[in-house]
Amino acid sequence: MSRPQIRPDLRALSGYFSPQIDVEVRLNTNESPFPPPQGYDLAVADALKELRWNRYPDRAISALRSDLGRLHGVGSDQIFVANGSNEGLQALMLAFGGHGRSALTFEPTYALHAHISRITGTTVHQQSRDADFAIDQAAALDFIGAEQPDVVFLCSPNNPSGLPESPALIGAVIAAASGVVVVDEAYGQFAEFSAATLLEDDIPLVIARTFSKTWAMAAARLGYLIAPAWLVAELEKVILPYHVDTLSQVAGRIALRFDDEMQERVALLTAERDRISVGIAQLGSHVWPSQANFVLFRPAAGRGEAVWQSLVDQSVLVRNCSTWPGLAGCLRVTVGTAAENNRFLEALEISLADQGGVRE
Ligand SMILES: *Cc1c(COP(=O)(O)O)cnc(C)c1O
Repeated sequence: MSRPQIRPDLRALSGYFSPQIDVEVRLNTNESPFPPPQGYDLAVADALKELRWNRYPDRAISALRSDLGRLHGVGSDQIFVANGSNEGLQALMLAFGGHGRSALTFEPTYALHAHISRITGTTVHQQSRDADFAIDQAAALDFIGAEQPDVVFLCSPNNPSGLPESPALIGAVIAAASGVVVVDEAYGQFAEFSAATLLEDDIPLVIARTFSKTWAMAAARLGYLIAPAWLVAELEKVILPYHVDTLSQVAGRIALRFDDEMQERVALLTAERDRISVGIAQLGSHVWPSQANFVLFRPAAGRGEAVWQSLVDQSVLVRNCSTWPGLAGCLRVTVGTAAENNRFLEALEISLADQGGVRE
């Protein structure tokens, strides 16, 4: 029997993969180290009692969209809610990408941008960042002018480097591009600047945001895009009906009531981020200055892989980027609680000492 084959352009792909190893200190996927604020779970439990399980969700997601519109100072018709921001980007690529169309990414960056583009049949152009993970603006504008990609992906702050894009670069890309410009701001709350200030009705700019990180709700799968209303209306054509369930809609609205608590956490995690950045540098590793809730670093002498394993052996899990293109020897650590961060720094010191003793 010959098995049916998937589309030829998908055969070489492998699915998204991040090891979920059982460890004491999990600092590998940039989640919040804290559960949602006190009072959140009770409010959700109360809402659950009222939930009408036999009825389809509000298909227009009206209440949550209007809350999010108010949060960002835009109309509710400028908000597209999805099961995680990744689903929002998939809808975007279904509508604006596809066969015969192309997307542009600046590598290394969030792997899902290229992956989702390929799944939707979109040709992917990948331009390289410089050695410090900055986009060469002149080269980027030349490429955009020559190729006119249908979608340009930016990520600010960028994952995995933690570096933000400057307002000037984002503005120049918008001016040069004839297609859609996406700015993925999954870590936007930790950064000094949001591209949301550049939104205009006649600019095809899309900002991606998520509840998975700052809002401590990775379990719920909730994210959204902010864009001109006409662009949001196009996305409604490709998304499955009732895709965001009632429980997620309610959970998202309740989270937004805790904005003050979230801001406090952002301040706390930002202070911790700066503390561990100094700590990692003091242990002799190269550290990139992050504006997100994670830090990219490179242990000396290309020992990323060995250091990663040694950290795992000490029950501390960070992201092993050491074999990713353009990231040789690099590791990425999520900012955790102060106690977790101390565990990480201690484990890193031990693993570097061990490596040094064995190898040098
Ligand atoms: C974590 C992350 C996301 C989140 O995706 P969700 O589908 O909302 O969980 C999006 N973009 C980037 C760059 C991320 O790092």
